[in-house]
Amino acid sequence: MNSPVRLAIVGAAGRMGIALLENAFNSENVVVTTAIVAPDGDDVGRNLGPQNIAATTALDESIEDFDVVIDFSSPESCLESAQIAARAQKPFVSGTTGLSSEQLDALFAHSESIALLHAANFSVGVNVLERLVELASEATGSDFDLEVFEAHHRRKVDAPSGTALLLGRAAARGREQSLEEAALYNREGQTGPRSTGEIGFQVLRGGDIVGEHTVFLCADGERIELTHRATDRGIFARGALRAAHWLATRSPGVYTMSDALFTRS
Ligand code: NAD
Repeated sequence: MNSPVRLAIVGAAGRMGIALLENAFNSENVVVTTAIVAPDGDDVGRNLGPQNIAATTALDESIEDFDVVIDFSSPESCLESAQIAARAQKPFVSGTTGLSSEQLDALFAHSESIALLHAANFSVGVNVLERLVELASEATGSDFDLEVFEAHHRRKVDAPSGTALLLGRAAARGREQSLEEAALYNREGQTGPRSTGEIGFQVLRGGDIVGEHTVFLCADGERIELTHRATDRGIFARGALRAAHWLATRSPGVYTMSDALFTRS
């Protein structure tokens, strides 16, 4: 596609929405034509980003104006927008986290009619880390205890982060476990000794931390720590814009960030 891919951003007034507007402004590959904000907030009618784009609330009234939807909002809004995108036959990129497994099933059901890419983390670094964790988990086996630590800013509303779960799933895959069976989300009081094969999650919330994840693999006498630190949410925005540009020409189906990063177009 030679002309820029036209984007609708859902959640345009949020922290990620603004990062997307700023990064799209400097891109030759994409242009933001539609900025969707929550209908019940103060953002309706505001001009957003360096484009000074007018914020609106009705994605379904703008379908002639965009080629791809990017959503960074809330689980409910993500599902509503995906339904509109599916009806309009527009590819859908979502970074919203905190969706339940039923909500994820409902989201992925739209992949029968549109190209759909949902990623808990759009950074190149985390997608590389995911591969390293799977490899390390497979190579070390059950002699090494696996724990996932994550830290985020005080306003984050879901825990553990979608990225921590993504890394936990990669670790479980490496050992042919299911994360649902191996995961332990809380330790308090008389917990008894650690069980072999469990994957523990530790969560910190505070300040303006953009996102930090460490996978610990601890054995007797040695320890591996695989860490990713995000210092600027521009990395997620640039990854999501790259994914949207890539997804614009894909057939219906479910795609991952690895597909967008590592598959040549
Ligand atoms: P935020 O709270 O700053 O922004 C969310 C925005 O969505 C808010 O402005 C809110 O008003 C808006 N919104 C809510 N309902 C809406 C609706 N019906 N229509 C339009 N807008 C609506 O949060 P954020 O930091 O921008 O993060 C948004 C989501 O993205 C969260 O789920 C977060 O965990 C996730 N996130 C994902 C990645 C990734 O790489 N996948 C990176 C950062 C954040």
